[in-house]
Amino acid sequence: MIEFSAKTREKELQSSSGQAFDVLVIGGGIIGAGVANTLSQAGISVILVEMGDFASGTSSGSSKLIHGGLRYLAQGRFRLTRNLLKERNYLMRKTDLVKPINFDILIGPGMFGRFEIRIGLMLYRILGGGKHSAYTKNNGIFPDSVKGYYTYKDCITDDALLTVSNIVSAHMNGAVCLNYVKYTGSSVINDENVAKLKDMVSGNYITIRYRVLVNCAGAWIDDVLGHEKIGNFRLSKGIHLIYPREVYRRESAAVVKSKVDGRQMFIIPRGQVVIVGTTDDFVDSPDNWNITESERDYVIKSLSFISAGISREKIIGEYSGIRTLLGSGNNPGKMSRDFSVLRKNNVFTVIGGKVTDYRRVSRKTAILVSKYLKKKRVSGALPRIDYKPDLNDRVSSAIKYECAIFPDDVVKRRSSVYYFDPESTNLVNETALKLLNPISE
Ligand SMILES: Cc1cc2nc3c(=O)[nH]c(=O)nc-3n(C[C@H](O)[C@H](O)[C@H](O)COP(=O)(O)OP(=O)(O)OC[C@H]3O[C@@H](n4cnc5c(N)ncnc54)[C@H](O)[C@@H]3O)c2cc1C
Repeated sequence: MIEFSAKTREKELQSSSGQAFDVLVIGGGIIGAGVANTLSQAGISVILVEMGDFASGTSSGSSKLIHGGLRYLAQGRFRLTRNLLKERNYLMRKTDLVKPINFDILIGPGMFGRFEIRIGLMLYRILGGGKHSAYTKNNGIFPDSVKGYYTYKDCITDDALLTVSNIVSAHMNGAVCLNYVKYTGSSVINDENVAKLKDMVSGNYITIRYRVLVNCAGAWIDDVLGHEKIGNFRLSKGIHLIYPREVYRRESAAVVKSKVDGRQMFIIPRGQVVIVGTTDDFVDSPDNWNITESERDYVIKSLSFISAGISREKIIGEYSGIRTLLGSGNNPGKMSRDFSVLRKNNVFTVIGGKVTDYRRVSRKTAILVSKYLKKKRVSGALPRIDYKPDLNDRVSSAIKYECAIFPDDVVKRRSSVYYFDPESTNLVNETALKLLNPISE
């Protein structure tokens, strides 16, 4: 295994200074990670910079589903659902990081209708979703207002680990991938594009040269471009609340209509916890990640009819994420979850793109970039995940092979550690802290 750590980061930061790369990728979320992975596997030289830790943006704040989106079907977005299901099926086959889970979709007055869901699930199956169960009457496992449910399969993942695994794979294929390095702007010097990068750990700057810039900065795509705004997107925040497992004992996840406004929401059991959410509200700033009382209230009022434990008192954790939605709609729930790649001169900007769809987004972007560079063609099999994380020794692997710099990186990337054992004081053990301390000084 190739070392990818704080030590190698320092070396690569120094050796990149003044160097020329084919492509500069901005953003170490799932989209930037996938793009860097695809390009490096196609033999194109890449440097990726991430201003925080890898996956510290929305790519660790999603619902962690790899799914076709039954909701998108109801909106008539058949092609998107078909594409997402193809991706889901591919990832389920090819990586241990994506696992199937049953979803109960609840039927009853003020909830989903039986007929509507049967048709929806039939279509889902035709588009690649797989067989669903027969209608099951509620025999006391749900509150009386739920008349029954259908069960179908979709998948869950660890979004942060999927992102980091793509970053490590890109690194294994020769890409320079730097966390805690912020892109601060570009200039043209002697006909070459020169980017100024700030090392957020030391505060020092380096410059590098590049031919193409790929802007995968998620909610910050406009900020990266400075005064040249893109305009054709809106930002929407979603929050999740975390509860102990006892609040919802079923093995299957539940798809539920909100009691407040009828939106589709999820209750997702994960190990010793349950994740519930999410919200979908426009925000004006990419930095507006804080969770408000009214957002918590909304989730609780929407879902507490399923379990009284979904209450203020029992919350043990929470997180948020910001979606970049394509277009200019005025209802975030109705805006497309598809993506677009825009080009202006040698700058490509990715708008949108779900975790489920990251391979398709990455490949499309990489194909456009490679054509522009007049380089090798990007094949349909890319990106591959070459890195196989050791799921039994997460702390050591994060430090040695996944370039965790600070103790918090290990914990946050593996946020499930918080959720799986919220009482534990042994989140990052003594050995790990010893290893990490010299690095974080
Ligand atoms: C609440 C919620 C739930 C979701 N649930 C699902 C789901 O279940 N399944 C699914 O498939 N999708 C889901 N999505 C969508 C999915 O999570 C996002 O579309 C995806 O994570 C976006 O990835 P990204 O790489 O574009 O953005 P990000 O992960 O935000 O990455 C962008 C990165 O760019 C970095 N950056 C910004 N500016 C700079 C700079 N100047 N220099 C260096 N770095 C910079 C940021 O720090 C950030 O890490 C959900 C989204 C939300 C909000």
